[in-house]
Amino acid sequence: MSIASIGQIIWVLGIVAWYFIRRPYERRAKRVEVVSNRRSGSETIGLSAALLGLGILPGFYVVTGIPEAADYPASAWAVAVGAAVFTLAMWVFRRTHKELGRNWSITLEIRDRHELISRGPYALVRHPMYTSFMLMGVGQAFLLANWLMGLAGLVGFAILFFLRVDEEERMMLETFGPQYRAYMEKTKRIIPYLY
Ligand code: SAH
Repeated sequence: MSIASIGQIIWVLGIVAWYFIRRPYERRAKRVEVVSNRRSGSETIGLSAALLGLGILPGFYVVTGIPEAADYPASAWAVAVGAAVFTLAMWVFRRTHKELGRNWSITLEIRDRHELISRGPYALVRHPMYTSFMLMGVGQAFLLANWLMGLAGLVGFAILFFLRVDEEERMMLETFGPQYRAYMEKTKRIIPYLY
């Protein structure tokens, strides 16, 4: 089996892990009442971009090999780095779901008896789930030896993140006021100590 195929198989396994980590929270979330929702046009664009770049486009590439013209020779070290980064991403992804629990939403929502979480990964950054998406994008770039499909994940992540983050923080400030302001002063957004 070629190194390129091994990278693709690891990417597929990573996406399967992603699905099984998220599924129980998605089910549970249906039972918790939503008290406020900011679903907007830009939310739909951001979510679609992330889904396309991190899932649908690379999935299409793994199945069809298109666009072949953007392929480059795969290397074992890149696949090893990609596997390590994707594993880290899934570990962070799982931690954030465990901590957010019933407060999790796929979009910008405040739930019944919403609690502000600031422990675990949330003690370091305000958006550790988005950190895990960014790490997924980096992992994808190393795992898929194709310029376009490798980078699609980071592009999709960036579109979702920058369309959403200001609105999300505004929503959290309106809901939690000084509590969220104090939390903002103690944390960065997605990269501990940096940004
Ligand atoms: N931005 C966070 C959460 C993503 S899920 C992260 O990257 O980890 C999106 C939902 O999580 C939002 O609708 C918001 O209601 C909720 N949320 C965001 N930060 C939160 C926090 N610190 N505590 C509780 N809920 C939070």
